[in-house]
Amino acid sequence: MNEEVELKVCKGCDAPLPYKPRVKSYFKKDENICDDCLRYEEGKSKAKR
Ligand SMILES: [Zn+2]
Repeated sequence: MNEEVELKVCKGCDAPLPYKPRVKSYFKKDENICDDCLRYEEGKSKAKR
């Protein structure tokens, strides 16, 4: 099996992260923003001041 990993630069953290294959993808929820950033944003917006 020849799995090619495709990297994509996240607009949130500016880091190249795996986009393909989908199993390893960090962009499952958003095409431009990685799951880590989304999780962080969610945590931020949910936190009450
Ligand atoms: Zn990110």
